[in-house]
Amino acid sequence: MPRGTYAARHKPPMSRLRHNLLSDLPHRLREHREQLLADLRRWGAEVREDPTLLWRTAAVRVGLWVVLGVVVLLTARALTRSLVSLAREGQGEQAAPVAILRVACASTSCRHTYTSHQPMDFAAWPMVCPRCGQATVYRAKLCPKCHRWYGTVPGAPKVCPLCSAPEAPGQPDEQPAPAPENPDDAEDPWG
Ligand SMILES: [Zn+2]
Ligand SMILES: [Zn+2]
Repeated sequence: MPRGTYAARHKPPMSRLRHNLLSDLPHRLREHREQLLADLRRWGAEVREDPTLLWRTAAVRVGLWVVLGVVVLLTARALTRSLVSLAREGQGEQAAPVAILRVACASTSCRHTYTSHQPMDFAAWPMVCPRCGQATVYRAKLCPKCHRWYGTVPGAPKVCPLCSAPEAPGQPDEQPAPAPENPDDAEDPWG
């Protein structure tokens, strides 16, 4: 018997097929679920007998890999975040080096002098004096004659306001760390 003829004769009309599918659907679902539950129960019993089956079951293996992948991803993200925050902290320390500045109040009735810790690029002169409260604190210079510190007001004569001695020649505006008196005394790296 030619196959084409058989198929044509036994093929139900499309409308009838659809009707059967729809009316059978709840039954089919129930059957499917029962089948699935039975499979699961059987699988559970087999796993109890042979635990290695758990690993050999593809679905479980895939699930475990997925869980492992998520754990690895989360760990990597947490690590990256902590490293980034560490790096930021490091940058923050580098970005704000602190200079120790000798400063003095230029107010004639105060003359308060002290050291101040400021960022290396500090330029907000004058500072407010902690003793008299006036904004009259400038970088200080040491008078070569009376050996007292005084605030260097911009535009003021370059003399000590306390004893009128001229400003020490070549005294830098900054007070860098004192260099060794004689460079030859410094340790020679070449031995
Ligand atoms: Zn003052
Ligand atoms: Zn002086």
